[in-house]
Amino acid sequence: MKTNTVYIGLGSNIKLPMLQIKNAIIALAELPGTRVTGDSGYFKSKPMGPKDQPDYVNAVAEIVTVMTAIELLKHCQAIELQQGRTKSRHWGERSIDLDMLLYADEQIETDELTVPHPGVCLRDFVYMPLLKLNPGINVPGKGLLSDIVKDAEKAADKKYKTDYQCQFAGNIE
Ligand code: ADP
Ligand code: MG
Repeated sequence: MKTNTVYIGLGSNIKLPMLQIKNAIIALAELPGTRVTGDSGYFKSKPMGPKDQPDYVNAVAEIVTVMTAIELLKHCQAIELQQGRTKSRHWGERSIDLDMLLYADEQIETDELTVPHPGVCLRDFVYMPLLKLNPGINVPGKGLLSDIVKDAEKAADKKYKTDYQCQFAGNIE
């Protein structure tokens, strides 16, 4: 069966964020037809949305799966629910967020799914862990992530720029 390498972005800022991320990676490893093949470790970052919320912990996991992108999205949403994710305000606090950053070399544009995730090239708390995990990663339709980020860092109109670069905060044991 065809296997696909997929990168999942994880974020949490309430209810023991590091534990939330670790548990979500364990849950990914337990999905049918799926293996976790690497992770970035923890990164700390400032909130992108409302500022009156705790700082975030982010990470990226690399998985290999036989699932289709939409099947995997549903499982990621189920993990969010299992870990008590509730809908709060836009870009507000959350116990866990799982975003599909890249799915093999596919480009997907549907009501439910945009892949590559638009944040990959724009948000430091996404591209920093992703580049740590895979420095030579290619973004389908765009090119080498390391080149794109260099350009984005220079561009004055960087849309989602946070106050400071997010920082590595330790390995996921
Ligand atoms: P955010 O991650 O921006 O805080 P949510 O986690 O609430 O927002 O996701 C909102 C919607 O984003 C979901 O219903 C999902 O269908 C959609 N979505 C589109 N592309 C993706 C993707 N690549 N990964 C995860 N969700 C996605
Ligand atoms: Mg999300």
